[in-house]
Amino acid sequence: MSIIKRKFDVVIVGAGGAGMRAALQLSEAGLKVAVLSKVFPTRSHTVSAQGGIAASLGNVTEDNWHWHMYDTVKGSDYLGDQDAIEFMCRQANEVVYELEHFGMPFDRLDNGKIYQRPFGGQSQNFGGAQATRSCAAADRTGHALLHTLYQRNVGANTQFFVEWMGLDLIRDEHGDVLGVTAMEMETGDVMILQAKATLFATGGGGRVFQASTNALINTGDGLGMAARAGVPLEDMEFWQFHPTGVHGVGVLISEAVRGEGGYLINKDGERFMERYAPNAKDLASRDVVARAMTIEIKDGRGCGDDNDHLLLKLDHLGADIIKSRLPGIRELAMKFADADPIHDPIPVVPTVHYMMGGIPTNYYGQVVAPYKTGPEEIVTGFYAVGECACVSVHGANRLGTNSLLDIVVFGRAAANQIIEDLERNSHHKPLPADAADKSMARLSRLENQVDGENVAQVTAALSKTMQTHCGVFRFEDTLQQGVEKIKEVADRVALTEIKDKSKVFNTARIEALELDNLKEVAIATMISAEARRESRGAHARDDFPERDDDNWLKHTLFFSADKRLDYKPVRLKPLTVDSFPPKKRTY
Ligand SMILES: Cc1cc2nc3c(=O)[nH]c(=O)nc-3n(C[C@H](O)[C@H](O)[C@H](O)COP(=O)(O)OP(=O)(O)OC[C@H]3O[C@@H](n4cnc5c(N)ncnc54)[C@H](O)[C@@H]3O)c2cc1C
Repeated sequence: MSIIKRKFDVVIVGAGGAGMRAALQLSEAGLKVAVLSKVFPTRSHTVSAQGGIAASLGNVTEDNWHWHMYDTVKGSDYLGDQDAIEFMCRQANEVVYELEHFGMPFDRLDNGKIYQRPFGGQSQNFGGAQATRSCAAADRTGHALLHTLYQRNVGANTQFFVEWMGLDLIRDEHGDVLGVTAMEMETGDVMILQAKATLFATGGGGRVFQASTNALINTGDGLGMAARAGVPLEDMEFWQFHPTGVHGVGVLISEAVRGEGGYLINKDGERFMERYAPNAKDLASRDVVARAMTIEIKDGRGCGDDNDHLLLKLDHLGADIIKSRLPGIRELAMKFADADPIHDPIPVVPTVHYMMGGIPTNYYGQVVAPYKTGPEEIVTGFYAVGECACVSVHGANRLGTNSLLDIVVFGRAAANQIIEDLERNSHHKPLPADAADKSMARLSRLENQVDGENVAQVTAALSKTMQTHCGVFRFEDTLQQGVEKIKEVADRVALTEIKDKSKVFNTARIEALELDNLKEVAIATMISAEARRESRGAHARDDFPERDDDNWLKHTLFFSADKRLDYKPVRLKPLTVDSFPPKKRTY
């Protein structure tokens, strides 16, 4: 069967904030850009970001980028690369003002400036009082951001391929990346999209866990495609558990609630965070709060009949603040927890929220992998930004509101890098003869499989294994068992069967293809977590409770083909300022 090929200057897989910020820059530079998305662009997960975007505007409290940088390095538990962190924090104000000028409807202070609220892990004076750094549009900041970027892209004539699923990365014999294969979901047709530059902006993979705040489409597709094409995955052991997912449902209740003055209580009505983080209390870093909650529940101080959750109290803020600053939260609480926060506390538990690891890149968005010249050789033609990438600005733990910042800063930076690279390499390289073979083999396997297992069943086994063996606290024996179990699940993934073989909008086939990606994310996570024998940021081991900088101040790299691990140094040297050396993290 001959496959249709189309040529573009740049192919972007993903139309969330990261993909659309990059697309805008590229389209405005006159390049021919294709943006693929599994869903309509404005339904990407960025739309559900609630709390805000970090920038040291100093509109409410004194602030500057250097303090923001310090907080981010500390929040990362010193695993973040300090050159990339300086790059991001220095550009924050500029990209936020740029969004404002694009028309993003931020809330306003009385003096007309952009409204900012406090958020977890944001301090001041290198560890002093709280800075107010999160720029917000009520509790619907991601919605405002995504719609603004979409409208701008429409104006710039970006070409969207809506409901197209990227399947596999195309590399030639030199390892250069030449585009992707993709499936039109409406027809089931497969196409080759050839490009001089391929940018992945496919977002997170939180669906590998059972309880997640992530959208159903967050299946780590970019990571799966990269891993199958021989690109390593970095720091996959680090997953952020957000302290406040609605109990039993997983829907996120933003940290903005605590930023506005809400707090957590246990079954005795005690504000327990005062014991764990005397200064920052409920606004300590997310890893710290999630662990404290898990201990409260484990020690029998959880709420409800089963003592299995805690309560988020905000009625004392008053109806006016709740209605004006947290209207979306109120709606979610009433719908999913049957609690109106004006009167009732919201039942919450720590829930998987964000993937700190991903496809390794430098701060220009170029994908880097170990090769002849060292651990960070550029993979020609391949770029990644947003949650699917590991720059690494978040290290072992991301601070709230730093992701919306990350996606716009690095979306723009990667686009600028692509513009420069295409000036030097303005031709399409020839496609290898086997460009689509990998995808066609996956599809024909699904087509011909008999006596296979149901996709939903295997997906459920995968997410349950991750939840049970790789949760908030990690134990030696459960991790070791987890590695074996997840390999068994992976073997089952290779034998799934779909009964419905129709072509038009066959969601069963899409889910089977997504499971191939979830599998890569899950295996990388479990094996990387089992190997890291220390506790750092979101990776908390019962058998190694302390951070171990002598042995583990390094990034993990996982190679899918032979399930091998490698490590590379953390970039401790910033661009212009002095390094922040690792020290004990207290809040
Ligand atoms: C509920 C929630 C609230 C959050 N709140 C905040 C907040 O207040 N502040 C903050 O800083 N961060 C927040 N975060 C984190 C932040 O929103 C995300 O990390 C960020 O928006 C990710 O952006 P992205 O562009 O990388 O990916 P996404 O917005 O997830 O977009 C991914 C895109 O890739 C496409 N895609 C994926 N796979 C394929 C494929 N195979 N083929 C084609 N297209 C594909 C999808 O269709 C989508 O368009 C929140 C996250 C969640 C889940």
